[in-house]
Amino acid sequence: MPQKFNRRTVVKSLGIAATGITGTAALSGTVSAFAEGERVEATTDLNTRKRPGTESSVVATVNAGEVGEIVNGPTDEDGYTWWGIHWLDRDVWGWSVERYLNSAGSGSAGTDIVWPMDGIISSDYGQRSSGFHGGVDIDNNDTGVGTPVYAARAGTAYTAYDSDGYGNYVYIVHENGYETEYGHLNSFAVSDGEQVSRGDKIGGMGNSGNSTGPHLHFGIEQNNSPKPIPGDNYQSVSALGAIQKDYSGL
Ligand SMILES: [Zn+2]
Repeated sequence: MPQKFNRRTVVKSLGIAATGITGTAALSGTVSAFAEGERVEATTDLNTRKRPGTESSVVATVNAGEVGEIVNGPTDEDGYTWWGIHWLDRDVWGWSVERYLNSAGSGSAGTDIVWPMDGIISSDYGQRSSGFHGGVDIDNNDTGVGTPVYAARAGTAYTAYDSDGYGNYVYIVHENGYETEYGHLNSFAVSDGEQVSRGDKIGGMGNSGNSTGPHLHFGIEQNNSPKPIPGDNYQSVSALGAIQKDYSGL
């Protein structure tokens, strides 16, 4: 993991900060102030520390794109403005510098789980003639079999096979009893028990198991109960695009 706060970056930061508060915001393109409870996203691989300050021990290095919730701050130390953040994916608390944070919007809607693949929803969540559908099916006829499937959220990925159901499938275990499932794959891009970040490739779309044609079955469960996923049939979805739903408790 890269160490972002060596002496060189400290000096560079001080030089930019000297242009003034409004100048800093304009130059960096980042929002210069957040509010408690606001969601923020790391713009680079970013250290989060036990206390504000570059000498404080690193609790974790979060990945670019990881989302946290502001719980404290701001406070100035060592030439940086620091915010106390609860990093949601890995459930750790730490202090990180403002200049490597962007607002990810207030509230949790749309920031927790992203769509795992480009495509069109071919069967939505809920009751259908063949029974209850505890997820959504996503087709991709443009690229077809092998279309990359990505982790919708960070967690621990497992690989499995069910000839009568999901065929080759991956399930990812998240915190608070949440799990996401990715069925009918033609290939795995993770090993059993591997830690993944949101957006990591986990496999390729396929037609394995009980499937009538190449597609991805995507499910979200909490404590083994399916959770509704928004999206209507024929709706286009983009890989890593936010799912507009508040999965409270994640
Ligand atoms: Zn399905």
